[in-house]
Amino acid sequence: QIGNIAQQLGTPVYLVGGAVRDLFLERYAPDLDVAVEGDVRSLVEACKAQIPGTDYQYHARFGTATLQDSRGFSLDLAQCRVEHYPAPAALPEVRPGNIGEDLIRRDFTINAMALSLDPENFASLLDPYGGRIDLQRGQLRTLHSRSFLDDPTRILRGLRFATRFQMNLAPESRQQLQEALRDDIFARLSAARLWREICYLLELVALPQALSLLSEWHLWFLLRPAPMDILAMQALLGRGQEQIQWLQQQFPEVSIAVSTLMLILLWQDLSWTDIQRPLDQWPIPDRNRLEADLRILPDLPRRIAQAIRPSQRANIWQACSLAGILAAMAMYPDDRALKDSARLYLQEQKSLQPIFNGQELQALGLSAGPSLGNILKRLRDAQLDRDIADKETAQQWLIK
Ligand code: ATP
Repeated sequence: QIGNIAQQLGTPVYLVGGAVRDLFLERYAPDLDVAVEGDVRSLVEACKAQIPGTDYQYHARFGTATLQDSRGFSLDLAQCRVEHYPAPAALPEVRPGNIGEDLIRRDFTINAMALSLDPENFASLLDPYGGRIDLQRGQLRTLHSRSFLDDPTRILRGLRFATRFQMNLAPESRQQLQEALRDDIFARLSAARLWREICYLLELVALPQALSLLSEWHLWFLLRPAPMDILAMQALLGRGQEQIQWLQQQFPEVSIAVSTLMLILLWQDLSWTDIQRPLDQWPIPDRNRLEADLRILPDLPRRIAQAIRPSQRANIWQACSLAGILAAMAMYPDDRALKDSARLYLQEQKSLQPIFNGQELQALGLSAGPSLGNILKRLRDAQLDRDIADKETAQQWLIK
């Protein structure tokens, strides 16, 4: 339908990018991107007027729009554009262009194909750089020799594609990667852009496999400021992912900061001097928690082993973030006592309902202030240690 409407407007439209690639790979494409050789706003307005139940959001700043039909099916539309990079790793200057120009600004040949949506030559393929053959050969190829210098995020995008689709970097692109690394290109990339790509990488289900490629492409320094034993690290990250799966099964409603957990595992054996730089450079959310976890983790098995009462163990876990607790379970897979106590904490102790709250304690005659907080904590400890079980035993405990 969008092709018919675009034809009436005299505006050629194409399905582009990952959706075309995924179609040839016979994979499900979650996002459908449409390139428009003309005005996006007029097109989405016409779609809304002509297709019942259709609506759109137009983003004036980027000249892009999202079109949805009544079943929730959606398309992302963007005007075809030309990009010019004023300096290596800088953001590009952009102006409207045609489909040929829109394809050449893309990262890899496999992502630079377009399918026409015009009803007269519907689904005819535009593949000026041989993306289809590269897909068949499993080759990731940039479109020109300055591609990685213009935008080094493409290197990490490439690493994700190579991991996901088991592809290899084409020889000339490998050469370009080496040149870009010699130029220290990542040092020119803004910390925010680099961090976003690092997060995508850390969140990959295939992160352990990506690690081999990171090492092969001489990029391991991006994730870890010191060399590592790749096999041991892959096993550790794999165990971290198993803990995430366990958590998701136990608590489907809880979300976990996967990137934080993976960073903890990648950095757990490093010195503070080593990790200070990435810590200072990257906009890591909740950096203080991450630092606290990294300080607690090395000594955790000894502290847990020495803690006799359940409340003592729960208080140790309480000082860790959720990512830190899962990291501990991954780091010490043979420490049964540590794992059991971590699971008990997450499954029961963390969400323990207090027998009395602050107001109830005041109603019993205790005055507000720091000592009330202290009593609440001791009540909770007693509850964890099963010294008290209900309001009656708690009152007797309070009197004592
Ligand atoms: P995924 O399945 O991971 O979403 P995708 O190829 O659809 O893969 P997007 O990030 O959604 O990835 O990007 C859509 C398209 O935009 C890409 O296929 C590519 O053609 C182009 N693209 C995205 N980022 C860049 C970039 N940094 N440089 C050049 N082209 C890019």
